[in-house]
Amino acid sequence: MVTDILTEVSTCSLSEVSFLGALHMVHANNGIQDLISAEGGHQQDRVRGGSTSILYEMQERLGEAVRLSSPVRDIAWALDRVTVSSHDVSVSARRAIVAIPPWLSERIWWDPPLPRDRAQLIQRVPSGQIFRSTWSTTRRSGGRRD
Ligand SMILES: Cc1cc2nc3c(=O)[nH]c(=O)nc-3n(C[C@H](O)[C@H](O)[C@H](O)COP(=O)(O)OP(=O)(O)OC[C@H]3O[C@@H](n4cnc5c(N)ncnc54)[C@H](O)[C@@H]3O)c2cc1C
Repeated sequence: MVTDILTEVSTCSLSEVSFLGALHMVHANNGIQDLISAEGGHQQDRVRGGSTSILYEMQERLGEAVRLSSPVRDIAWALDRVTVSSHDVSVSARRAIVAIPPWLSERIWWDPPLPRDRAQLIQRVPSGQIFRSTWSTTRRSGGRRD
């Protein structure tokens, strides 16, 4: 059972998780119970409309500053300036926050290349092999969402 729980919360095979990492996760969450519980636990709350509704709301407020279908291909960086480019736009700023899964940042052309430690870390952090879907049903009697 512990294996099932840890596999689900890690969303990968436990062979890919360090024992220390698993212990840290359990410790940081005050035990296993909170990780899997609905009431009072991590599975209790959901964003109304789904997590992506937050993105749509931000997009509406930010307007044309949000570029869709324009994945970043190149990042030219120095200590005080960074230029991020896709196939149709280039943006320069003092800083850039790259918030993509680590392994995907290997597909970006970095100029100069990333520091060796960072580059090696990216190569050793694959994405998990598990996906999860969530759905809701409606009970016929009373029509209450379950
Ligand atoms: C199976 C599974 C179940 C999960 N269940 C839960 C849960 O129940 N509750 C919970 O809170 N969390 C859950 N998580 C974790 C949650 O999904 C992640 O923590 C969260 O999505 C991370 O958000 P993020 O914005 O950092 O990255 P992501 O959601 O990965 O977003 C990265 C974005 O970057 C974009 N991108 C990639 N490359 C480029 C590029 N070159 N240029 C521009 N954009 C790019 C991608 O298209 C994507 O939109 C789960 C994760 C998994 C895998």
